[in-house]
Amino acid sequence: MSTIAENIQNIYRIIAETAGKCGRNPKDISLMAVSKTKPMSMLLEAYDAGMRLFGENRVQEAVDKRKELPADAEIQLIGHLQSNKTKLSVGNFSCIQSVDSLKIARKINDQALTLGIVQDILLEVKTSEEEAKSGFSGEALYFDSVKEIMAMENIQVKGLMTIAPFVDDEKIIRQSFSQCRLIFEKTKEIYPHAPLSVLSMGMSGDYRIAIEEGATLIRVGSSIFGTRS
Ligand SMILES: *Cc1c(COP(=O)(O)O)cnc(C)c1O
Repeated sequence: MSTIAENIQNIYRIIAETAGKCGRNPKDISLMAVSKTKPMSMLLEAYDAGMRLFGENRVQEAVDKRKELPADAEIQLIGHLQSNKTKLSVGNFSCIQSVDSLKIARKINDQALTLGIVQDILLEVKTSEEEAKSGFSGEALYFDSVKEIMAMENIQVKGLMTIAPFVDDEKIIRQSFSQCRLIFEKTKEIYPHAPLSVLSMGMSGDYRIAIEEGATLIRVGSSIFGTRS
């Protein structure tokens, strides 16, 4: 068995263990393989090990890799989307996870309308003080924007995404995930008919905490493919 296959198996084992400890069904937690910067050969190795969901952060790289993957695999965009890359993104990803402004949502909606499709997205919320992090910052701004985004006909909001701060203090990481979960629950209350099912939280270093805090999708890169240079 390849190392990548072993790594994936190992993560599924940890998902099952962690879910068990907090009384969740492991089937409610999906694993995304974050393959940014990694060569196609590694994605195909993961595919052969059963992986069907990949995450990429650069639009052009992702579109190129999409062409090389078998048709039953999906790529989702997890990196910040610049408005000049919107056209290339819409329709090329099963989900755009990193929608972090009203402006970018409008652009996605316009392009999806042009193509005659409905684009699935997640809304990225900023749950950390770190300057570099993207995402809607502040609940007021988020809830103002979400109102207009929910009404867009060529966008389907599937849930929320967040990135925890890169710190050692587990309490701070946990706080970030639980804040995202609360905003997710509130959004579901306000829009009970919206198909909100995805809470995308947790990376290699913190996915156990994310599972404990309710993540339904974890995004794991280096623990599957090794560290990035
Ligand atoms: C790179 C990246 C990941 C995966 O990070 P690892 O620490 O390698 O698991 C997850 N989510 C986002 C948004 C990323 O950019």
